[in-house]
Amino acid sequence: MRRGAVLVLLALAFAAAACGGGSGEHRTARTSTSATTTTTTASTSTTTTAPATTANRAPSTTTRTNPAPAASGSLAGKTIAIDPGHNGANGAHAAEIARPIFIGTQTRACDNTGTETPDGYTESAYNLDVALRLRDVLVARGAHVVMTRTTNDGWGPCIDTRAAIGNQAHADAAISIHADGGPPNGRGFHVNTPALIPGYTDDIYAASKRLGVDLRDAFVATGMPTSTYLGSNGLVERRDFGGLNLSNVPKVLFETGNMRNATDAALLEDPAFRQREAVALADGFAAFVAGR
Ligand code: ZN
Repeated sequence: MRRGAVLVLLALAFAAAACGGGSGEHRTARTSTSATTTTTTASTSTTTTAPATTANRAPSTTTRTNPAPAASGSLAGKTIAIDPGHNGANGAHAAEIARPIFIGTQTRACDNTGTETPDGYTESAYNLDVALRLRDVLVARGAHVVMTRTTNDGWGPCIDTRAAIGNQAHADAAISIHADGGPPNGRGFHVNTPALIPGYTDDIYAASKRLGVDLRDAFVATGMPTSTYLGSNGLVERRDFGGLNLSNVPKVLFETGNMRNATDAALLEDPAFRQREAVALADGFAAFVAGR
C-alpha cells in the first residue's frame, strides 16, 4: 500500500513538472514585474502582413535573421493557427487562470504559468518568440496566420479560447508551442497529439497524428533530439489537453525542448536556434498541407 501511495505521489509530482496543456500548477509563478496590464486577455490577432516587432522578444540580444526563402515549401492559401503557450502575466492572475474548464475527458485549469530555464528565461516569453518567428516564415511562404496572443504582458487566453481561435479560422493546421519542464537529466523535444476521444477528437485524430509526424520529421533538422524521457520517437498521445480535445482542426502541442535541462536550455536561449525552429516547423507544415 505504501509503495502504491509513493508511486501516486511520484506520478503527481511529474505531472506538476510538465508545462503543457494547463495543469493548473503554479510552481514557477514568479511575481511578474511587468504585470501592469490587468485586463488584457489576448485578443485574436489576425496577422497577414505586418512584420513582427521585437519589443516582446526576450532575450533579444541579437538581430533576427531573415525568414526562410519562399521557394521552399509554399503555403499559399493555407491558414495556420499558432498558439504560444501560457502568457507573461498568468502568475499575477492566479485565480483567473485556475478557473476549471471542461475538456471532454475531465476539467482542467484555464491555463498555467509554464516553466523557465534555470537562469530565468520564461517559457511564456520563449513560446511567443518562436511563435512570432514562425509566423514570419509562414507569411513569407504565403500562409494566412492567426495567433492566440502576440504579446507577453497579458494573461490567458484560456485553453478553450485558444482552441476556438483555430476553429473559427478554419485553420488547415494548428500548433501550440511550448517548452517542457522535464527532469533535469532528460533531453529533447516531443510532439503531443490528441488521443482518439469519440465526440471530441475523432474528426481530427488521424490528421493530427500525421501533422505531428510531419512536424517531428522536420524538427530534427534543428539539432534538438527527440525526447529521452517521454514518448516514443518524439510522439506522445494525450487525452488531457484541452487545447487539443477542443480543436476541430488538426492540431498538436509541441514541446520544443526541456527548459530544465542545461544543454537544451542553452539551445532554447539562442536566437539562432529559435530561428531554426521556426524554419523547421514551417517546413513541417508545408509537408503536411502538401500531403492532404
Ligand atoms: Zn508549456
